[in-house]
Amino acid sequence: MTTRRKKIYEGKAKILYEGPEPGTLIQYFKDDATAFNAQKKAVLEGKGVINNRISEYMMTRLNAIGVQNHFIRRLSLREQLIKEVEIIPLEVVVRNIAAGSIATRLGLAEGTPLPRSIIEFYYKDDKLGDPMVSEEHITAFNWAATQEIDDMMAMALRVNDYMSGLFSAVGITLVDFKIEFGRIYEGDFSRVILADEISPDSCRLWDSTTNEKMDKDRFRRDLGNVIESYTEVARRLGIMKEMPTVIQGGVA
Ligand code: UDP
Repeated sequence: MTTRRKKIYEGKAKILYEGPEPGTLIQYFKDDATAFNAQKKAVLEGKGVINNRISEYMMTRLNAIGVQNHFIRRLSLREQLIKEVEIIPLEVVVRNIAAGSIATRLGLAEGTPLPRSIIEFYYKDDKLGDPMVSEEHITAFNWAATQEIDDMMAMALRVNDYMSGLFSAVGITLVDFKIEFGRIYEGDFSRVILADEISPDSCRLWDSTTNEKMDKDRFRRDLGNVIESYTEVARRLGIMKEMPTVIQGGVA
């Protein structure tokens, strides 16, 4: 179906096609995995199917608690119908435990609990390697208004609280995650809603008992069993029932 639709944008892990109605798009999840600003690449068979399903689950649950987002409904194994938004060019990262770039930058041992949840902003620009920016940069360059920053921070903390509880209940520690936001226009006003995806590609998830990594760090660090770990996250969340063949690579 999507092949006949007009491609609006192709990113590293997803493609956006025009939607069936104005104000909608179709988000297609690819199996492509990239890391280190696309210097490392691979195709992980079935990843798109799992991430589509996990992101659907998270967005639906978040919508139910009042965190408005772009998700409308899942259309197929790899596609979801979403609201078209004007993407705010920021990656919003929330951290609970030191890992990845904050561990390196501040010399913290990976796994050190942070004194409180910390929000960081990165400017989305692959050429620059997504540099970290402050609220000063964001308002000075007009990437977002002060009110929008406040809204994004409040929503990011709600997402963190909700997802920390959800994962903790199934034996997974939410170490950190990245989310993106977009604007929807309603007459003269615009509103910031959650967009993009929430999946093991964009979260650090550790098994609560063993601290084993169940996220994209398995790919970044060549730890193996990437798809098996993503599938285990989906299984623990109770959303594996209708995709039993993914692990065998049977779903194209
Ligand atoms: N992250 C992401 N996309 C990016 C950069 C980071 O989804 O382009 C996620 C990453 O998976 C982790 C969190 O944001 O859950 C924090 O990432 P960090 O800044 O530690 O960077 P990394 O170590 O991934 O380079």
